[in-house]
Amino acid sequence: MINVLTPDIYNKIAAGEVVDRPYSVVKELVENAIDAGATEIVVETERGGKGCIRVTDNGCGIAKEELPLAYASHATSKLSSAKDLFAIRTLGFRGEAVASVAAVSRMQIVSRTAEKEAYSLACEGGILGSVQPAAGAEGTCVTVKDLFYNVPARLKFLKSDAQEEADIAGVMARFILSRPEIAFTCLADGKMKYRSFGDGLSAALVAVYGAETLKNCTEIRAEKHGIRLYGFLGNRNFYKANRTYQSLFVNGRYVVNQTVGAAVSNAYASYLMKRQYPFYVLFLDVPPEIVDVNVHPNKADVRFADNQIIYGCVYSIVSAVLDGNSRALEYLANAPAAAPSSMQEVPAAAPAAVEREMSYETAKATLAFDVRMPQAPPKLYDAPPARLEVRQPAAAAPTPASSEDVFAENQRFLREQEHRARQERVDPASLEYKGELFQTYLIYQAGDDAYFIDQHAAHERILFDRLREKTEHRAVVSQPMLVPFVLSLNAQEFAFLEKNFSVLRELGFEAEEFGDTSVRVLAVPADLMGIDLSAFFREVLFSMESLRAIRLADILKDRLATAACKAAVKGGERLTAEEAKQLIERMDGDVGMKCPHGRPAVVKMKKSELEKLFKRIV
Ligand code: ADP
Ligand code: MG
Repeated sequence: MINVLTPDIYNKIAAGEVVDRPYSVVKELVENAIDAGATEIVVETERGGKGCIRVTDNGCGIAKEELPLAYASHATSKLSSAKDLFAIRTLGFRGEAVASVAAVSRMQIVSRTAEKEAYSLACEGGILGSVQPAAGAEGTCVTVKDLFYNVPARLKFLKSDAQEEADIAGVMARFILSRPEIAFTCLADGKMKYRSFGDGLSAALVAVYGAETLKNCTEIRAEKHGIRLYGFLGNRNFYKANRTYQSLFVNGRYVVNQTVGAAVSNAYASYLMKRQYPFYVLFLDVPPEIVDVNVHPNKADVRFADNQIIYGCVYSIVSAVLDGNSRALEYLANAPAAAPSSMQEVPAAAPAAVEREMSYETAKATLAFDVRMPQAPPKLYDAPPARLEVRQPAAAAPTPASSEDVFAENQRFLREQEHRARQERVDPASLEYKGELFQTYLIYQAGDDAYFIDQHAAHERILFDRLREKTEHRAVVSQPMLVPFVLSLNAQEFAFLEKNFSVLRELGFEAEEFGDTSVRVLAVPADLMGIDLSAFFREVLFSMESLRAIRLADILKDRLATAACKAAVKGGERLTAEEAKQLIERMDGDVGMKCPHGRPAVVKMKKSELEKLFKRIV
């Protein structure tokens, strides 16, 4: 007799595929937050995720009427036709994670889209509750309690709280690395595990592995046959005792892939002994058409249309860098001769998709690689126990930055590093203004160098520094508002703000209790006049909530400066030649400048590079 499985049973089985441990729940929920476009994600766990897992994001949210759909199996907003399967750009696409987790836990989703109120919907062991109005910021907060409470067989397979917590840390470490533009906060039993600020890959590397590791790595950025490889390679004498310090992200997704793993290991082979494993955090971006992500239920591997091309590219780039031969200069992100340490070299103009495909096709046709393809199975490389490694990402997480000290130390290191980078200056007087492009980029020439300045990024940076300095020295001017602004908060948010009235006052806000859980803002820092105060406080509250363990004043200062920048810098505005001149004067020749989010404000191009493009020189 053939039974059609009821959705209840089906989901429990599917849960075994998608979620078998707390860390896989964390992974699925964080992927959803990323797919929702979140820029801040907070992950809280209790008892290694067995007691509670909560993921809060500031993404697009789920509309009230779609909340039940989020729990439905095979319901996804990310894929509508089979054709889409060939060009997946989101992390999720199967539409089964939420349903599977909900079938084996007590789950609650509180979500709010841009304009609407927040709503919540709970689900207990697969039984859906009803949609209720709720309190919550824009974005989504998913809470999973008592995982596997109704599947005793699975409960037995869980490891100790400490091991589960370590595995979660491993997953989070990889998210922090793969999404350096997102600010992550990870708390385990109320203690800070990781904290990143969404300010770039080196900062993310430091947040996960500490400053020492960054010092022992070489940053690469290479492009070959339409395939991009970038990230950090451990120096030849910076090896590890196991393979867990190796992270590969293909099109933004963490994977364990034999082809790439072998290419990197073999490139290191002549420098490392047996049982010495290289450290690397590498990103491989390939056209989505030539990679199949749909091979593994855990989505932990990918299949390339042509392994040889991928192998060849990765091997030749990594070995050129390790061998330190002249080709390496092309691949080093901070090549000493080619580019001063802080300079963001002009990346080879990103070719259009078609061109990229063509150059890949050409490569495929000719297989014109200057690499040694391994004939026999390579010496040092044995097939990675993919399954095993996926199951134990824990060791990849080095001792997480658990104390405030480490955190402060990392911040200090990054500031120093940036300071060093910003030593790279040109004499502002030598910069000759040549014009403007797309109402965004100012063009300057100094001798044989051309500089493109992103006027908004530069302006934002200047303002940010100025405002941070002001808040640092408490030189903020407070300005009373004509009409006081009333913030209605929930009890928790109110408690946060109330505790910090004095901090707010120091920074130029005059705020007081107003009724039950509301706060009335009577004055704001002059620089913030005219900004959307409710949006501003929502952002501050979001951070405050995630930052129980570190100084709120610091966060507020950052937020203040960022908000003021947003208020002050408008996009797509044409600057007059006079304004352009003022901007460059205020930059004071600082061509290593980055915007507050870590993007370069200046890009340099040498005359010789231009000549290369025109084939005047080779
Ligand atoms: P998938 O991610 O494969 O689409 P999931 O079961 O993980 O499937 O999620 C189902 C749907 O619920 C998603 O397609 C999305 O529309 C919605 N969703 C889940 N989590 C979030 C979130 N944090 N923010 C916004 N939407 C979400
Ligand atoms: Mg998903």
